[in-house]
Amino acid sequence: LEPLFQFMIRSRTPAGIATADQWLVFDRLADEYGNGTLKLTTRQAFQWHGVLKKNLKATMQKINSTLIDTIAACGDVNRNVMATSNEGLSPLVREVAAFAKQISDHLLPKSTAYHEIWLDNKLLTDGQTDEEPILGKTYLPRKFKIALAIPPYNDTDVFANDLGLIAIGEGDKLLGFNVAIGGGMGMTFGMEETYPRLADLIGYVDKENILKVVEEIVKLQRDYGNRENRKLARFKYTIDRLGTNVVKEIIEQRSGIRFEDVRPYEFTQNGDVLGWKKSSDGKWFLGLFVEHGRVRDTSKVQLKTALRDLARIKVCDFRLTGNQGLVLGRIEENLKPHVENILAKYNVSYGEGVSGIRKNAIACVALNTCSLAFAEAERYLPELNTKIESILKELDLTSEDILIRMTGCPNGCGRPFLGEIGLVGRAIGRYNLYLGAGFSGDRLNTLYKEMLDEEGILKELSVLLSRYANERQPGERFGDFTVRTGIVSPSQSVTVY
Ligand code: SF4
Repeated sequence: LEPLFQFMIRSRTPAGIATADQWLVFDRLADEYGNGTLKLTTRQAFQWHGVLKKNLKATMQKINSTLIDTIAACGDVNRNVMATSNEGLSPLVREVAAFAKQISDHLLPKSTAYHEIWLDNKLLTDGQTDEEPILGKTYLPRKFKIALAIPPYNDTDVFANDLGLIAIGEGDKLLGFNVAIGGGMGMTFGMEETYPRLADLIGYVDKENILKVVEEIVKLQRDYGNRENRKLARFKYTIDRLGTNVVKEIIEQRSGIRFEDVRPYEFTQNGDVLGWKKSSDGKWFLGLFVEHGRVRDTSKVQLKTALRDLARIKVCDFRLTGNQGLVLGRIEENLKPHVENILAKYNVSYGEGVSGIRKNAIACVALNTCSLAFAEAERYLPELNTKIESILKELDLTSEDILIRMTGCPNGCGRPFLGEIGLVGRAIGRYNLYLGAGFSGDRLNTLYKEMLDEEGILKELSVLLSRYANERQPGERFGDFTVRTGIVSPSQSVTVY
């Protein structure tokens, strides 16, 4: 008798955008084949957890029937391409999101194997082989991550990616992108040659040339990446081995496009904007608070039902953010009260009454879903945050935006090394505490204490937050405070080449 294997399925949803019809199918699949919940990930993808092996094919086929697929959502390929999805934040969002889709499609494996295996398409029988002009015969040495961001919002954590593109516009016109290469969060405990790294800015490219440059960057990693040691195979290690300037030169030679100087830009935050925002074409966008991206019903909040009801009447589309959040998109002005009524009926919040630390918290799935986890994250951080909130309340810091991020291991799916408070699982109930990241995702944090249990974490944070409440300068962020006061030394910041 075969064991009851269960799997996770992840979507490819560039810029995290889904229609109401797609949402309805995804919601139903979670109940029919998954564990009854949908997980919105830190890379703007949907995940279905607990899908039994015998149901994999049916689930994949139903996802594909909505015209969203799962191709290259895992593996040594380019992963889901991220981009700011809330059109209420900038007139550039639509075009930038379209670029994310274009890049994602362009870099897809050309193999028909996916369609043959999962969608029962006819096998290639007449000796044809798949041609892979970008990925080649061996694909990439390791996964490859791309994100696009539109200043002042760095809600995709663009510098945490192998390739980050920062949109540069003039008014509502997109001109091109500043290009950043070599970011990546993952490390391995005990292997000093592994480390988190922020991407280096190597120049500006007009939008007409960006796809060519992206392709050459991916091909460069294909050709120069480390294929002997998977732990050292990400693009960041290729860049550090060859040197950023050398890599920049190779990209220029291969693409025939010269980088211009990095254009001025400013990021002010990397969290989500909650609440109503109006886009330049008069539609409304509503940023919702979804704790750690888990869409489900609880006795207090019936989020899954509320979103299903909204999808049924097709008043909005659904946009995942890079912070495990959700934006209801393209709502007509006259339908706003209707949307508000449905959300109120099911107690769904878009941020009112939620503390600054909880609003800005990210946790990866960790135990009991991820086989690599050493410790809890998503199931534990809400409870820890409640205890931290008691400390914040006493210090009158409840509404202060503080980035806290927890992962069950140092692979870094929840980008913990960009948390002003980063907690990385070492063992059951034990975490390394990191401090001092920049609020807009432009400086890594630094290890402060190791192997803390809950009591230790709360004791340390109590002292640190109390100092912050009493000694901070006007407008100073918690991460900056811990660096300025020497509690931790500053870690790597973004460098311009
Ligand atoms: Fe799993 Fe580690 Fe990624 Fe968390 S960070 S989801 S524990 S691999």
